[in-house]
Amino acid sequence: MNTKLLPVTPESIAEAGGIIRGGGLVGFPTETVYGLGANALDGDAVRQIFRAKGRPGDNPLITHVASEAEIAPLIRGGISDQARALMRAYWPGPMTLIFPKSDRIPPEVSAGLDTVGIRMPSHPAARALIEAAGVPIAAPSANRSGRPSPTTARHVLDDMDGRIPLILDGGACAVGVESTVIDVTGRVPRVLRPGGVTPEMIAAAAGAVEVDGAVMRPLREGEKPRSPGMKYRHYAPEGALTIFEGEAAAVARAICARYDAAPDGAAILALPGHEALYGGRRVLPLGDKDSAESVAASLFAVLRALDDEGVKLIFSEAVDEAGVGLAVMNRLGRAAAFHIEKV
Ligand code: AMP
Ligand code: MG
Repeated sequence: MNTKLLPVTPESIAEAGGIIRGGGLVGFPTETVYGLGANALDGDAVRQIFRAKGRPGDNPLITHVASEAEIAPLIRGGISDQARALMRAYWPGPMTLIFPKSDRIPPEVSAGLDTVGIRMPSHPAARALIEAAGVPIAAPSANRSGRPSPTTARHVLDDMDGRIPLILDGGACAVGVESTVIDVTGRVPRVLRPGGVTPEMIAAAAGAVEVDGAVMRPLREGEKPRSPGMKYRHYAPEGALTIFEGEAAAVARAICARYDAAPDGAAILALPGHEALYGGRRVLPLGDKDSAESVAASLFAVLRALDDEGVKLIFSEAVDEAGVGLAVMNRLGRAAAFHIEKV
């Protein structure tokens, strides 16, 4: 299959909508990461997503809508006051809510669970695509399973060339990490995966929040995760990654010692402004400003660059877990298989 890469225009959106309606796949930009979309109401179309990504069949997909009116037929039991408060505050945006699912959602989307994750993205191209398709769009991140999520159309092409007919190029993603997944089926909203909508923001809108224990640690032997994606070592660079946590100068000393002892070379991930602490050693910056948002926006591109270069050993500074920092440390921690050293 020949994979077309087109800029976002009314014509390319119409073509992409036709592909989705016809049961095919499209790579498209959202404010979080690029998605790989199919008609969420068509089990055969959705199965192709799993094939193109090499995704395990027990990992559910998020269903994307462009308006609130599309949601009622997809869920069971209505929308709680808490869920409604979150929707009012943060939709459209980088937030996925988990509801009991209706029979309209095929088992391929929910991976056999009786719930469905729904998101209303804010990216104009994503919204236009859903409207052009005329159906809700099931979409995971548009990477091959096990690779860092794509934050540019080029990343999607690197992973999906020859596997899908069309990628819409809408430039780099603003948020850079996947949506916050929140279970709203219980009494208190529970963060299953941190993202651009932070626990602080959820508490502000809904009055309370819990963060699932599995967000910042590996799963225990035999533990069944509430968010199936948690059990995969998702965001894994090919090189072995270790994270160092502590005061900046002490972290830099520890990293330099390990770097200098690496016979075949290594790379360092450091926050902007810390380069000087590492002498002439090979440093890739985590973002371009000292903010968690800036680190999130560049994280996956940096991990891909390390893979492209075949770097075998990576040492990274930790990021403060406040705000979007929790999502950054969740992705970085998983990429490191939670090898975190406190210094
Ligand atoms: P992706 O956007 O590619 O990272 O994939 C979507 C992620 O959302 C999955 O890995 C799950 O962890 C989570 N998710 C989707 N649907 C559900 C659901 N019904 N219940 C819990 N988690 C879900
Ligand atoms: Mg993914």
